[in-house]
Amino acid sequence: GLKPAMFRNGPALWRELWPRHRRDTHKYRRGAVLVVAGGLSGVGAPRLGARAALRIGAGLVTVACRPEALAAHAARGPDALMQRPIPSEAALRDLLDDGRLGAVLIGPALGLDAEARSAVMAVLRAGTPAVFDADALTLLASRPGWLRRRPKPCVLTPHEGEFARLFGNDERIVTQASKLERARLAAAASGAVVVLKGADTVIADPDGRAAINATGSWALATAGAGDVLGGLIAGLLAQGMPAFEAGCAAVWLHGKAGEALGPGLIADDLPEAIPPLVTPALADDDA
Ligand code: AMP
Ligand code: MG
Repeated sequence: GLKPAMFRNGPALWRELWPRHRRDTHKYRRGAVLVVAGGLSGVGAPRLGARAALRIGAGLVTVACRPEALAAHAARGPDALMQRPIPSEAALRDLLDDGRLGAVLIGPALGLDAEARSAVMAVLRAGTPAVFDADALTLLASRPGWLRRRPKPCVLTPHEGEFARLFGNDERIVTQASKLERARLAAAASGAVVVLKGADTVIADPDGRAAINATGSWALATAGAGDVLGGLIAGLLAQGMPAFEAGCAAVWLHGKAGEALGPGLIADDLPEAIPPLVTPALADDDA
């Protein structure tokens, strides 16, 4: 039986678990994130995730990509981002084997070919905390059994379309009228934290807890907004924040950034809008 615990998402839910860093910390301890990208057809989406991970406080973010995309990545900002080529699955495994790695984001513009598939498999096997988004969710949908090998913690960030693909084989889940119940059943079935996105994003933990988010704006219905969210969650996971609270905090801040920026926002604006929102959210009076 699931613990039926339902929350309204807000800083009171995750303030206590927000990452705190020692005065003498270093960049790996701050949190190292690996963003697994694809080839030349999509260098923007993974970089949005990578920038978001940096802006939420990860100490080191590396974009791993197909060799042909390396120059395109290297030519783009911010200079703080690292890039590494992955000519083979073995090269990706080496990056994943780095014990200092704190979290992985895989999916934005990853592609759907055999290399993308083997990259998803490598991340599942590596066991590093991971966020699966976008193309990674589509690939997982074609191989439902793969989630049995999921890392811990594991966060899935589907929009409604990706959710329907991923859990469509489970009648009990997809026929639920309530978005909250669908997310909770999906989390329980997959063993992953499920962030079911949209105007009223639901964050659900396999243990039965779920939160409904009320921050945000229709202005977030824009290309790349979801990629930023994935990076925010990965950045918090890398800093050691538990997955449910990381999902809640990222979704809340992402929504607040959308409200602050308003109409005309583009996803590129979102990562830079995060830092000024954090301190007020962590102050004890309600933000
Ligand atoms: P994606 O569908 O992957 O591009 O992600 C879009 C992001 O923007 C998610 O975080 C959604 O929750 C958010 N979003 C999309 N449409 C809306 C909307 N109408 N109102 C509020 N947030 C939205
Ligand atoms: Mg998306």
